[in-house]
Amino acid sequence: MININDFNFAGKKAIVRVDFNVPLNEEGKITDDTRIRGAVPTLKKILADGGALIMMSHMGKPKGKVNPKLSLSQIVDAVSAAIGVPVQFAPDCGKAADQAAALKPGEALLLENLRFYPEEEGKPVGIDKADPGYDAAKKEMKARQADFAKTLASYADVYVNDAFGTAHRRHASTAVIADYFADDAKMLGFLMEKEVVAIDNVLKNAQRPFTAIIGGSKVSSKLGVIKNLLDKVDNLIIGGGMGFTFIKAQGGSIGMSLHEDELMPEALNILAAAKEKGVNLSLSVQTIAANDFSNEAERKPVDIFHIPDGWEGMDAGEKSLANWKEIILNSKTILWNGPVGVFEFDNFAHGTGEIAKYVAQATQENGAFSLVGGGDSVAAVNKFGLADQVSYVSTGGGAMLEAIEGKTLPGVAAILGE
Ligand code: AMP
Repeated sequence: MININDFNFAGKKAIVRVDFNVPLNEEGKITDDTRIRGAVPTLKKILADGGALIMMSHMGKPKGKVNPKLSLSQIVDAVSAAIGVPVQFAPDCGKAADQAAALKPGEALLLENLRFYPEEEGKPVGIDKADPGYDAAKKEMKARQADFAKTLASYADVYVNDAFGTAHRRHASTAVIADYFADDAKMLGFLMEKEVVAIDNVLKNAQRPFTAIIGGSKVSSKLGVIKNLLDKVDNLIIGGGMGFTFIKAQGGSIGMSLHEDELMPEALNILAAAKEKGVNLSLSVQTIAANDFSNEAERKPVDIFHIPDGWEGMDAGEKSLANWKEIILNSKTILWNGPVGVFEFDNFAHGTGEIAKYVAQATQENGAFSLVGGGDSVAAVNKFGLADQVSYVSTGGGAMLEAIEGKTLPGVAAILGE
């Protein structure tokens, strides 16, 4: 494995998988450029060394078809400004050989949205998994995906993957392409390296007490994470919508609160496993209930086991927050994924804001290492202006969760090996 910091790109053409999947408004203007800024250290290093830079990314979900609304041509100026050189644009990422060949040291080229080609994701199009021809179609698409990856690889001498947000996908540009580069011609970018180190730090070198705070809407989407964490943490705080499945499974009345009946047996298994492993699993004891799913709904604090009919739990109550504050402020490693309430509604954002504050306080005053990840938790620390007061904010929600689940990320494995 080679390290980007030690590599000299002088005279080389580098193709970099970046995550430029930035949100655009109706006029095609970028509303949050965090992801572009995240890739800048890698891109600048290549240019400063005297390398030629080819950038490739997806944007949105065009499902294998050209969609002008998702064209990366809209971000060319922003990328030029971010890296400090004018960026050329290749309007067809699969036919950019001539533009790539003409690129001189210090020059930069951005390829059009990779997902305009179905080969990028490598999923057969227009055929259902249940159809008899599906396996053959899948095999054919995998072969096309390999060809597409080979074409992309042919543009450059070196491959760099700096797109952590898609590292959990085995796509042409995130993993398959690495097969076409020798071990000394592929590497992780700075952002990817930081992500991998931060997650490793939490999973392998956690100082104790280690606390995970898992919130969000559904138990089903985070079951693997919760199970894996039970073997690692001292405290597991489960908040937000997913907590109600645990309360109902124990016989509580949860009114109209979000829950998944089919996951109640799993919830009981998790409670039993936590007990057996000596993990302090802390559920909400009090919620702020509302009589409607809206910001303007009437609100009242209620005991979590006795939510009246017609009411639903929408935010963490003060009694829950007091318990969680104590746990968080006594922790030396903190992992946070998922809000503890419907934080998009200002009237129900208090609990999530408090969690953000406790995590920041534990980091700043007690020297805890804190890792915050997942789109909504990142949005929450940003909303409360605390992003720079936690140790690390992960850019890739899905990728981070899969890494925490203990899965090997294909984008990382393609470079570092299994
Ligand atoms: P996830 O994508 O699973 O991390 O879930 C994030 C979503 O969970 C956010 O959109 C929150 O509004 C939602 N959420 C958190 N707590 C609740 C709750 N008590 N009731 C309904 N939705 C919730």
